[in-house]
Amino acid sequence: MTKKKRIQIAVSKFSLPSPRRGSIDLHSGYGWSTERGNEIHQKLQLKRKNENPSYTSEVYISRQFHWEEYLFEIAGRMDGVYAEPLPIIEEIKTCFNIKNLLKTLNEIGQDHPYILQLRTYGYFYWLENNTIPTLNLHLVASHNNEVINYEVQLDINSFEKWLSCRASELVAEARFRERLINLRQKTGENFKFPYQSARFEQTQLIKKIEEAFLENRPIMAQAPTGLGKTIGSLYPSLKEALSRGQQLVYLTCKNSQHQIVEDAILRLHDQGEDFRSITLAAKNKICLKKEPLCNSDYCEYANDHYTKMAYHKVLEKLNNKRKLTAQEIQKVSKLYYVCPYQVQLELIDQVEVVIGDYNYFFSSNDFFGQQLVYICKHPEKPNLIIDEAHNLPARSREYYSCSLSSYTLKKMFEEVIFLPHKLRSEFETLLNLAILTIEKYGLGNYAHRIVLDLNEFMNVENRIRDFVARFLDSGAQVRLEDVVSRLCINWSEFTNSLELAYNSQNEFFTSYHPNPETIKITCCDASKILLERYNNFKHVVAISATLKPFHYYSQLCGLHKKKPRTEEFNYPFPKANRKIILIPQVSSKYKERAKNYPRIAEAIYKIISLKNGNYIAFFPSFIFLDNVLKYCSIPPHFKILKQKPNMEPEEVNYFFSELRNTIKSHIIFAVQGGIFSEGVDYPGDMIIGAFVVGVPLPSLDIEHEGIREYYQKNFSKGYEYTYIYPAMTKAIQAAGRVIRSENDQGIILLMDDRFMQEDFINPMPKDWFNKHPQELISSSILNDIRGFWSASR
Ligand code: SF4
Repeated sequence: MTKKKRIQIAVSKFSLPSPRRGSIDLHSGYGWSTERGNEIHQKLQLKRKNENPSYTSEVYISRQFHWEEYLFEIAGRMDGVYAEPLPIIEEIKTCFNIKNLLKTLNEIGQDHPYILQLRTYGYFYWLENNTIPTLNLHLVASHNNEVINYEVQLDINSFEKWLSCRASELVAEARFRERLINLRQKTGENFKFPYQSARFEQTQLIKKIEEAFLENRPIMAQAPTGLGKTIGSLYPSLKEALSRGQQLVYLTCKNSQHQIVEDAILRLHDQGEDFRSITLAAKNKICLKKEPLCNSDYCEYANDHYTKMAYHKVLEKLNNKRKLTAQEIQKVSKLYYVCPYQVQLELIDQVEVVIGDYNYFFSSNDFFGQQLVYICKHPEKPNLIIDEAHNLPARSREYYSCSLSSYTLKKMFEEVIFLPHKLRSEFETLLNLAILTIEKYGLGNYAHRIVLDLNEFMNVENRIRDFVARFLDSGAQVRLEDVVSRLCINWSEFTNSLELAYNSQNEFFTSYHPNPETIKITCCDASKILLERYNNFKHVVAISATLKPFHYYSQLCGLHKKKPRTEEFNYPFPKANRKIILIPQVSSKYKERAKNYPRIAEAIYKIISLKNGNYIAFFPSFIFLDNVLKYCSIPPHFKILKQKPNMEPEEVNYFFSELRNTIKSHIIFAVQGGIFSEGVDYPGDMIIGAFVVGVPLPSLDIEHEGIREYYQKNFSKGYEYTYIYPAMTKAIQAAGRVIRSENDQGIILLMDDRFMQEDFINPMPKDWFNKHPQELISSSILNDIRGFWSASR
């Protein structure tokens, strides 16, 4: 007898209309607190228990049945069951706007998931006890605790009709998934590297990743630019995932890096590999409305989304596309009047490669994260690649840090005139309360550590939520990014971070900053949270050109507990194509800067005079840059391009078009860690030299000092972890702009005596020198560079 295949599913996931129908209805933009929902649940359950001893909360119920070749195992927890005098099953649902929910329940009736869930409990109870219980949906408004009891009827015949439709639907989905897994495995069997031959270092990278998979350990790979690390990590990771019938999630730190991954995927497609990929876009980028307010009254795409999806078979229509982008999904969504964001979510489960930004998986409350977690719940887990992983420690800290400024709130008074007349003064009172709550923590005109009272912030949040409910009930027209929505979002994000800080050990601290008056929650270390996320994946590959020292990155990326393999790969091009010179006669130390500005300017002048072409001088800050620029003169035929803070994309593009202009030579004055120094390519002769002037050590302020204390206490490396290693990563990234392919030639000038100090040497790539950077010091800099240029092509 063949063993039955299983479909294990929670009652809440099982209880959906079949065929799927209905609208999207989220008051997105007004925040939502699951904690608040849980709190209401627990309070009510306790009250019920005190009122009636026969009441039991969280009652587990399950059922097994056979359907075609599958065995269904459905289980759930009923919120509460009264045994006496008559059996009643009660399901508690908290919602933001109880009247809207009631309207939806009345309109959709028996097809609403809440009703189907309660009926499923009732049906299972009937099968077990031969009695149909009373079914009560207890609705609670989260902002004011208003309640409505909604009685649900259970007609066994009509329920079984729905049940048979739903079971058949799930069987069809399971068969689809089985076919998908088989197809993936077949693709995985013959999966080929897309180039005739790989470079030695690239072959090594692939080999080491495969070895790490066999050892079941994550791998952290430092691979220099030009090695081909995108395809070198994508190929073995996807092949392994496919061989298990699974998916690969490829995360980048910037949307602009998605293109590089898409290009690598295109290479695999070109050689005939049959798999699909999706590049995720943020909700506000893919939304077809001006603002993503996802409810059927406001958005025609939300209205009847599920009905239209099923009727037009939208997912099937997108099935023949191997590369799914936001534009493609928007095009199809417009045609059938469905929500492109939701379509994206529904496709995640069906493709082989999911490309997205870090925050889709690592941030605290992103919706994609929840969806990605869902795909990770399959018994066989997907693989994960974290590209440019050196960005993860700082990025993840940002996700869990938060600030509130009274200046921003004061600006909101200007928008009060857009609110309904009767709500204006109440909103002003609320703003004043919020401002007062922030400003009372200021003890003077200086930054200082503070202790925030979580209850106080929760109370203000509750008052804001009350107001939001009245605002929505008033029928007022919701404007784009309206002021009520912004206040609600800002405050609840802060409260969420504060809750996290309260429940953490010592990873967070809070501070007050004057001018403008701001309170901040700083996350020093998000590694524990990251570690939990990795558990959703089978294998994790973290790659970057700068992952040293490995102990620093593995600790702060949360991988250290999983004992990662760490590998550093060699520079893949002829060393003769690159000349690195260290100039320790220059110092960027604060006290010595002023006398060094003219020396740096002079050195730049002399060096670029030796050969026409494009150069970049990378400075530790804009102030430093401006000071050197004051002393700078340039040879004829050269033009200076100066980076400004927050440049528009058109301005950046102008720089690139200038660099492509071969008639003139250029020197860009830029900063380390900026748009011209990381995640950007200068192919061919676009850049022939880089000056890395100084090390961009973070400023010595209350925030960095707070982080330093934490690192000192926890890792005994406070100064290195806070200041030196992040700064050196930026310096090395900047130096890495010069040589991007085997035909590139160029010079790299490291200008600072700090590059000779041990802690600054640790993060350097091993191919920069044999034993010590002292080897890079030249006794005749200009002659050496002249010699290099005359020996080159
Ligand atoms: S189109 Fe925009 S507003 Fe409409 S449901 Fe989708 S994301 Fe929400």
